[in-house]
Amino acid sequence: MTFADLSTELIEKLPDLKGRLTANTLLSDITWFRVGGPAQLLFRPADEADLAYFLKNLPEDVPVTVIGLGSNLLVRDGGIAGIVIRLGRGFGEITIEEGNRLRAGAAVPDVKVSRAAADAGIAGLAFYRGIPGGIGGALAMNGGAHGRETCEVLVEARAVDRAGNIHILSVDEMNYSYRHCGVPAGTIFTQALFQGEAGERTRILAQMEEIAEYREQAQPIKSCTGGSTFKNPPGYSAWKLIDAAGCRGLAVGGARVSEKHCNFLINEGQATGADLEKLGETVRARVKDTSGIVLEWEIRRLGVAANGKYPKGES
Ligand SMILES: Cc1cc2nc3c(=O)[nH]c(=O)nc-3n(C[C@H](O)[C@H](O)[C@H](O)COP(=O)(O)OP(=O)(O)OC[C@H]3O[C@@H](n4cnc5c(N)ncnc54)[C@H](O)[C@@H]3O)c2cc1C
Repeated sequence: MTFADLSTELIEKLPDLKGRLTANTLLSDITWFRVGGPAQLLFRPADEADLAYFLKNLPEDVPVTVIGLGSNLLVRDGGIAGIVIRLGRGFGEITIEEGNRLRAGAAVPDVKVSRAAADAGIAGLAFYRGIPGGIGGALAMNGGAHGRETCEVLVEARAVDRAGNIHILSVDEMNYSYRHCGVPAGTIFTQALFQGEAGERTRILAQMEEIAEYREQAQPIKSCTGGSTFKNPPGYSAWKLIDAAGCRGLAVGGARVSEKHCNFLINEGQATGADLEKLGETVRARVKDTSGIVLEWEIRRLGVAANGKYPKGES
């Protein structure tokens, strides 16, 4: 499926735009699952001011979706209508500040934050070694692992709203809960300020090594996957419920429930977005039948199906 090219019309409205606009860019090249149709128009802003300028001048009725490194996304086969924003180099800086603080642009991979913190002798951010996304995604998902979450180390985030206004949001204003951030829809994070504590570089690096080794043996990190598919329901582990429902190894088309960690879905090579979503829904139905518990998707599903339509109840 291809969308109408919005770029010419927009470029006329935005004479001072510095970032890049590309029509019908395939998102399967960006997402970890390696599935997904095109973005109608992909915008890569040059910097925060460019992003604000773009949003200020973009007609209100054009839908905007922001994506990070695509490690928590299932993009449907028909792609995403409207504008898809992906932050790049202009949001890639890390600076160390006094008092064991670290500031990182939203496009910085989490792993780089953990390394920079270790090098600066800042403890408390090593858990980011295990999360393959970027800081924008970590802010939006309240990314966490190994007993720590973003909400515990964040001081404040910078963001641009849909109207192009810049905000500084304290951690309290992020309204965080488990894998959820409660800021208004359309908020695009551009930067985060983290608080760590004084630590010893070699110790922090050893902790990060342990995290990497654990991931290697416990999760299919070398496969095309989106990480944990479902949130852990209060008091339960999603993977245990999935296992008990007999779903380990279950397949739909080219998509399979990982044998190694059954809360992970895998694209075995030829899966479509529809295969993965159908597999996820089959797992949810079987878990509900066996345990009565309704699993909630942690992975964000975006866009339209191959026929150009949204699933029932979405628009
Ligand atoms: C192998 C594997 C292991 C994983 N392990 C973990 C884990 O241990 N813990 C964990 O929490 N997650 C884990 N994940 C999931 C994923 O890495 C995290 O959710 C991550 O924070 C997503 O970041 P991203 O940059 O890839 O965001 P994307 O997947 O691109 O986007 C995720 C969501 O964040 C939003 N978003 C992205 N950037 C911005 C921005 N700048 N402003 C506003 N919203 C934005 C998107 O709109 C989307 O809703 C894992 C994934 C994989 C593939």
